[in-house]
Amino acid sequence: MLSNFNSTDIDLKYIHHLNLKEDYHVHCNYNDHSEPDLTIRNVVKRAEDIGLCTLAFTEHVRSTSSWIQDYLNEIDLFNKNPKIRIIAGFEAKILKDGSIDCSKKYSNKYLVIASFHNSFNDKKIWMNALQKAIENPDVDIIGHLAPEPAFKVERNEIELLASIIADKKKIVEINAKYHRPPADWIHVFKSRGVKFQLGSDAHALRDVGQFDRISDLISLVDK
Ligand SMILES: [Zn+2]
Ligand SMILES: [Zn+2]
Repeated sequence: MLSNFNSTDIDLKYIHHLNLKEDYHVHCNYNDHSEPDLTIRNVVKRAEDIGLCTLAFTEHVRSTSSWIQDYLNEIDLFNKNPKIRIIAGFEAKILKDGSIDCSKKYSNKYLVIASFHNSFNDKKIWMNALQKAIENPDVDIIGHLAPEPAFKVERNEIELLASIIADKKKIVEINAKYHRPPADWIHVFKSRGVKFQLGSDAHALRDVGQFDRISDLISLVDK
């Protein structure tokens, strides 16, 4: 059986100082746009080869996804790996009403990254949806958070978000694929006691555990 995940399982000593050997956001070929060789087996092998100690599979999910049990069963085959802590989870889209596109059956049991994958083009709707996602007890990590080009998020609004994130004990991901969140947001989050984790958001084997392109953001968190 896969062990149930909740955010208190995350080793807090690594949150104040980002651990480059932990990747909390990796895809695999259960979606339709990763490279075909991004199998769960290959990802685990790759993670072993580069010396990762934590690997979270967080495949794109929808509430209608039909492959979920196969995906969980396949990850379970590797769960006894003595070298790497392997976590089963999902990346769920934040919807306009602030709910996440993932069945409760899975979201309350596994690691959940909540991310924006659509532009809302309306700050009020965006802020409201984000706040609801942060307050959702099933959400563990806020993925690749950044403002939309259509509007500007003011300093006091970033501070408000930071306070809610810290209060709800959610983790903000430092995302390598999108180089997010913006540096000034990280400053505000950090000042409010928000915790961070690393996510490569790998859609190809070569990107698993690769954080070089966000070394500037990592040094902001660690300094
Ligand atoms: Zn995403
Ligand atoms: Zn992703």
